[in-house]
Amino acid sequence: MTRPLVLASNNHGKLAEFDRLLAPLGFAIQTQAALNISEAEEPYATFIENALAKARHAARESGLPALADDSGICVPALGGAPGVFSARYAGEPKSDAANNVKLVADLQAHQDKSAYYYCVLVYLRHADDPQPVIADARWHGEIIDQPRGQGGFGYDPHFWLPSLNKTAAELTPEEKNQLSHRAQALRILIAQLA
Ligand code: IMP
Repeated sequence: MTRPLVLASNNHGKLAEFDRLLAPLGFAIQTQAALNISEAEEPYATFIENALAKARHAARESGLPALADDSGICVPALGGAPGVFSARYAGEPKSDAANNVKLVADLQAHQDKSAYYYCVLVYLRHADDPQPVIADARWHGEIIDQPRGQGGFGYDPHFWLPSLNKTAAELTPEEKNQLSHRAQALRILIAQLA
């Protein structure tokens, strides 16, 4: 049986990543853009609230089950910042380069350079589902001053993985899809959906 599912994101990389793991469970995923659904507001201070808002919007507008994700990078020495502001940490217009410059500068005075990517996924059977399926995961690393690697996006060139001796930007897409916060959260979600 096919299970239609709307993805509350227009990112084709995420669509491919989610489709690879969800298609074997019978899910037929489409993005909200393909259904002409606008992007939801993300006004909240926590990842989970933003993910829920996005999933609820997509489910309500489509009449279908919906999956949303929210993610970012959290730095304990900075009280969890950039956190939900990861995409626009250095302000508008959003720029990965400017965000990385600001993050490295903000950490100069701190000894503790640890950081983690965080991802939360929310699956709603319908817009008023009182019991969302929720999965979250962290991917731990450290922030380094000099960028390394050409892959990935966002903070990846500064996200150092000590056990691999590489930044996230030096991983192949396949390696990142095995290890990342999104991949880990998706595996947890799938175990719950299955
Ligand atoms: P979104 O939830 O995909 O919109 O991600 C929000 C922001 O978090 C992105 O714009 C990036 O700055 C950061 N981010 C989330 N996941 C990653 C990742 O895998 N690598 C690098 N940056 C990420």
